[in-house]
Amino acid sequence: MVILKSDREIELLRECGDLVSRTLAEVAKAIQPGVSTLALDALAEEYIRSHGAAPAFKGYRVGNLVFPSTLCMSINDVVVHGIPGEHVLEEGDLVSVDCGVVLNGYFGDSAFTFGIGKISDEKTRLCQATYESLNLAIEQTILGNRIGDIGSVVQDRCTIDGFGVVRDLVGHGIGKKLHEAPQVPNYGERGVGKKLKRGIVLCIEPMVNQGSADVSTDDDGWTVRTADGTPSAHYEHMVAISSKGTEVLTTFAYIEELIETPYKQFEQVNHG
Ligand code: MG
Ligand code: MG
Repeated sequence: MVILKSDREIELLRECGDLVSRTLAEVAKAIQPGVSTLALDALAEEYIRSHGAAPAFKGYRVGNLVFPSTLCMSINDVVVHGIPGEHVLEEGDLVSVDCGVVLNGYFGDSAFTFGIGKISDEKTRLCQATYESLNLAIEQTILGNRIGDIGSVVQDRCTIDGFGVVRDLVGHGIGKKLHEAPQVPNYGERGVGKKLKRGIVLCIEPMVNQGSADVSTDDDGWTVRTADGTPSAHYEHMVAISSKGTEVLTTFAYIEELIETPYKQFEQVNHG
């Protein structure tokens, strides 16, 4: 069941979204060749806790599995849910950093893919397509549209460049739980699926592979990789439909003040 939120709840979710966005910018300040993913995880946790919140992923359970870290850090062929560790980042790596917080009983969730130093043109093109597909998806998140309208634009934008859009993992609703209904696939058909109503809050998160869309999961139960070993990109925003229209509750602006992105800057969308 989709739990619709009041404007007041959407404001609380915006506070969560803002903290996640600022935490990702803290990571952006430190992410570079030679730094370990564990060091970045520690600084993110410290930042979140110093703002009266808690990491949402640390201790997150799926069956008997417990996620051990504040961030998911997914390098190169890892699509999502990579576990931070002693591994040191290298020039040319592509790293998706996904962060979740819980603040005042509500959740925030956002992800950004960083290039470490200079990355290949192919990786840049992959990031550009994924990033633009998220912007297009946000434009479709308007009253009366359907879930399929979101997925179809992501799919179309990425497949036009020959990239594989992951189907095994999807976006989701968010609120007093990290993962709520509805599922938000990155594929779909125009005019098909659940109708978007006032009060809906969605995490839209295209996960896009340079090669095939197929993925596999490591023995740790978490780490999801591309089946063909090609790199993968991932961006995620929280998007709400309030009485004011479409509101993006997370932002990449804090990151983009710090680093140059080679692709089109995200623009806030607000349809009244
Ligand atoms: Mg996320
Ligand atoms: Mg998410």
